Amino acid sequence: MEYLNEVLEKLKEKNNEPEFIQAAQEVLTTLKPVIDKHPEFKKMALLERITEPERLISFRVPWVDDNGQVQVNRGFRVQFNSSIGPYKGGLRFHPSVNQSIMKFLAFEQCFKNSLTGLPIGGGKGGSDFDPKGKSDAEVMRFCQSFMTELYRHIGQDVDVPAGDIGVGGREIGFLFGQYKKIKNAYEAGVLTGKGLEYGGSLARKEATGYGLVYFMREMLKNSGSGLKDKIVTISGSGNVAIYACEKAQQYGAKVVAMSDSNGSVYDPDGIKLDIVKQIKEVERGRIKEYADKVKTATYTEDKNGEKSIWKIKADIALPCATQNEINLESAKELVKNGVKAIGEGANMPTNLEAIEYFLSNNVLLAPAKAANAGGVATSALEMSQNSMRYSWTFEEVDQKLDCIMTNIFNACKKAAEEYNLGTNYVAGANIAAFDKISKAMIAQGIV
Ligand code: NDP
Repeated sequence: MEYLNEVLEKLKEKNNEPEFIQAAQEVLTTLKPVIDKHPEFKKMALLERITEPERLISFRVPWVDDNGQVQVNRGFRVQFNSSIGPYKGGLRFHPSVNQSIMKFLAFEQCFKNSLTGLPIGGGKGGSDFDPKGKSDAEVMRFCQSFMTELYRHIGQDVDVPAGDIGVGGREIGFLFGQYKKIKNAYEAGVLTGKGLEYGGSLARKEATGYGLVYFMREMLKNSGSGLKDKIVTISGSGNVAIYACEKAQQYGAKVVAMSDSNGSVYDPDGIKLDIVKQIKEVERGRIKEYADKVKTATYTEDKNGEKSIWKIKADIALPCATQNEINLESAKELVKNGVKAIGEGANMPTNLEAIEYFLSNNVLLAPAKAANAGGVATSALEMSQNSMRYSWTFEEVDQKLDCIMTNIFNACKKAAEEYNLGTNYVAGANIAAFDKISKAMIAQGIV
């Protein structure tokens, strides 16, 4: 434990980055039994190396808004670890983006990508640009300026970005167009999440949400339970939330609530997903509008940082919005209201105290690194199809995704069992992911 603590203390001293420290602390503390078994890691400074990004790029993104006013945002790309493949991870456009959030996401991505079993390293990027309320032309000009710097740092064998919060099909299209223009080459594998007309993969849009539910299915099955007739609440109403809802409903669960950053809707009859899709995917509206359109639904505005959605009675909760959306108070509320399983669709949605609370109250917790890996796994399948210049059918991709998620669950379970950790899949996921990355890093020497 001494080595672990030393590394953690040094990390805290060197980095005034709360989200990154939180993510590193969560991983490092769960690796204790592995580190105890391998005293040689200290001399190799393996933990110091695994927590230091290989490269961190920060750049200016100037663009002109519809009124002719010049705006300046900050762009980032964190290339964290390339020991098992080219850097891979999404781009986030959200006003909250800063270096700490970028580093936490990139760090987590390394472990997630390792779990997929596919040859992809870890990275993440984005900007504090807020696409909300911007015209298509403004979003295009921003994306073009962002790519005018980013292009020199990425490539299909170097670093392959994708979408994340605020970056969907529209943004990926603009980014890809600018990359192609600058490079004068059709390198389809440089970005994933592309439109189907220009190199995208069927089922990529659905993959993170579907994958989350496949993982939940396996986790529940292992405890003698299932999704059928379960009451489910899902935070967020973006890409991950919508397709988690779709798959949960297909398995016979009843999803009764969804949310966005302003509040939540509760529909005891079950969420009508086609209405949510219309509001969110077509009209880019607010979840509140669901309650205007559906008589059985009610809307509650979130106040003082409290999340109304976690106060609703349910068997399963799927946080699919953003980091730290479940704190200790919400965790207590969830347990009190009967929640028996949590599936993390968002990255790091549960803070450290809340994780501890769930685990000590026998709540099954499907950790983000494992449970939401379906998106990046399908991105890697998109890269495979681009390399082959060939496309698989929806069913073929979906079946591969299901198989990958089942394998990920089994890897988490096996690692947890090997170290007598019961159903602590948080530790199981970290240990299984670390095993592959550490072996690759050691094999490649001090680089
Ligand atoms: P979207 O932008 O499609 O949707 C995000 C949703 O979360 C929206 O409903 C948004 O509400 C809400 N949200 C965002 N920020 C906040 C906030 N600070 N407080 C409360 N609600 C918020 O993003 P995705 O669905 O793609 O991503 C959701 C989560 O899943 C993120 O943590 C992301 O990193 C993670 N993830 C995504 C993957 C993917 O393939 N897309 C893959 C793996 C993980 P509003 O509209 O009000 O902002």
